[in-house]
Amino acid sequence: MQKGQINVQTENIFPVIKKFLYSEHDIFIRELISNAVDATQKLKMLASAGKTDSDLGDLTIHVKVDKEQKTITVSDHGIGMTAEEVDKYINQIAFSGAEEFLQKFKSEDTNIIGHFGLGFYSAFMVASKVEIVTKSYREETPAVKWTCTGSPDYEMEETEKQERGTDIILHIAEDMEEFLNENKMVELLTKYCRFLPIPICCGERSEWVTPEGEAKEGEEPKKVEVKVPRIINNTNPLWKQSPADIKQEDYLKFYRELYPMSFEEPLFQIHLNVDYPFNLTGILYFPKVKNQIEIQKNKVQLYCNQVFITDQLEGVIPEFMMLLHGVIDSPDIPLNVSRSYLQSDANVKKISSHITKKVADKLEEMFKKDREDFEKKWDDLKVFIEYGSITDEKFYEKAKNFILFKNVEGKYYTLEEYKTHIETLQKDKNDTLIYLYANDVNTQHVYIQSAKEKGYDILLMDGFLDTHFINMLEQKLEKSRFARVDADVMDKLIEKEDANISKLTDEEKKSLQEAFEKCTDKARFTVEIANLSESELPVLITQNEFMRRFKDMEKLSGQKGFYGSMEHYNLVINGNHALASRILEETDAEVKEKLIHQLVDLALLSQNILTGEKLSEFIRRSVDMI
Ligand code: ADP
Repeated sequence: MQKGQINVQTENIFPVIKKFLYSEHDIFIRELISNAVDATQKLKMLASAGKTDSDLGDLTIHVKVDKEQKTITVSDHGIGMTAEEVDKYINQIAFSGAEEFLQKFKSEDTNIIGHFGLGFYSAFMVASKVEIVTKSYREETPAVKWTCTGSPDYEMEETEKQERGTDIILHIAEDMEEFLNENKMVELLTKYCRFLPIPICCGERSEWVTPEGEAKEGEEPKKVEVKVPRIINNTNPLWKQSPADIKQEDYLKFYRELYPMSFEEPLFQIHLNVDYPFNLTGILYFPKVKNQIEIQKNKVQLYCNQVFITDQLEGVIPEFMMLLHGVIDSPDIPLNVSRSYLQSDANVKKISSHITKKVADKLEEMFKKDREDFEKKWDDLKVFIEYGSITDEKFYEKAKNFILFKNVEGKYYTLEEYKTHIETLQKDKNDTLIYLYANDVNTQHVYIQSAKEKGYDILLMDGFLDTHFINMLEQKLEKSRFARVDADVMDKLIEKEDANISKLTDEEKKSLQEAFEKCTDKARFTVEIANLSESELPVLITQNEFMRRFKDMEKLSGQKGFYGSMEHYNLVINGNHALASRILEETDAEVKEKLIHQLVDLALLSQNILTGEKLSEFIRRSVDMI
């Protein structure tokens, strides 16, 4: 028997491993299974290169949970190790990583924690004693057993083992007995190993079958329960296959495999396949994101060579990409990661911007290839594309070619097309192009009508990111401004040289204004007299564009701020309307007041803000007047 000290000078590193190395203890299983898969694949490679002629046999990896013995055993039929190899790979090499870790740890640079994958040694996060029983594929090499109890001392001796391969036996520590549960193990394996390329078996599952010869005619066939090995993984996940061989229904099927609790189907997907300047495969699905960015249950999952790493991708991929679903797999992403490490990794940054580019390219391609279909998908894509444009300059630079505007008639235009469409009529006297929009065709109907009468076009901006999006576009588009149709009277929203002249004298205007102010709540309304055309309505309610936008943004960000508490409107009186003159001429104070109230209420009604007692009053007054 060989006894020795693992090559670490001073202290016992295991408590350190246990405490700091990984935030999640779970991942010991990921590490051990990864090693088992590697060992199996190495063997397959040797066999296909003709370097071993042994019959490979069943290569399934087995995970056994033994409650009585308090052990978890991971067994593979891979290449195994000779005594020299155990010495080299387990006693020496693996520990150089551990030592480096300790050195850095001593310098108290805690950021590096998580950077060091100790692979096999992560077993000590849950085990008080670990045994390796292994037999190399090389013929006539004896099997070896290695034992270590978590101190730097180990023992190594020859042992009996018939089959080629490695068993890693974890004697679970007292405070880690939660792991001695097969269901929990299945859950962990499903999380980390669901798409590994070698079959992994843990326990058994039931299957109901009809035994042969049992089914009698006319009778419901009797079924019996049989136990079959429970295979955890799909060894050939879709993203590893060639897109040319995949049908759309395969993508949908895989989506359901990834997210069994989801009932909505994705809109479409992008199959990523990059091999330069780094390796990356994956499938990103576009879900239907309507009016709310919900807390996403279906997260993008990050894999490294089919090993699940994380689905906490904040800071790893751009935020708007987290609206997507699916998988990304790259061997260039470090396997042994903590999030802070992932975020600062240069490769990860490159990968992230590359994915953004790919996604933008794909969207552009879809737009160019089938515009009609793209328009159909637009309403569902809109939030994603707007979010991307707002938060990612580079994405916008590409997206500006396929961003669509939809007008209130439901017609779609690109930014360029729309500009051409409104250029002749919607420029004001300062040569600024005014984009008119509505966010509710019902309540803003009056205003939309009045814009249409002038031949203007109105965009529908009812998405919940639209206010932000508009702010952004105003920075990007030259000499352009957005205005909601009810932000002011139409003549002022798009101010032309040939303004209407006033029928009223300044004195009359003043008197009219005072009469209205007397009848309205000053805190809520600012009264102003405007020279509109006679055919416009006599009284209009408008709401300042910028005040309203601030309020919308506050609402979106969940703050209850300064603007939130104020509902302030402009009450615009059309001085040129016949009723304005009629009010000025009225001598009976009571009739005059009634008329004013009636006109104001009608305007409020058209904005859907006449409610409660005021509404009842209006109805009573109207009946009286009839
Ligand atoms: P890494 O896997 O990152 O190299 P590990 O500490 O996990 O680091 O493993 C060290 C080495 O031990 C591996 O590179 C491999 O050579 C060997 N090894 C570990 N597990 C097995 C196994 N199940 N079968 C064969 N060799 C193994």
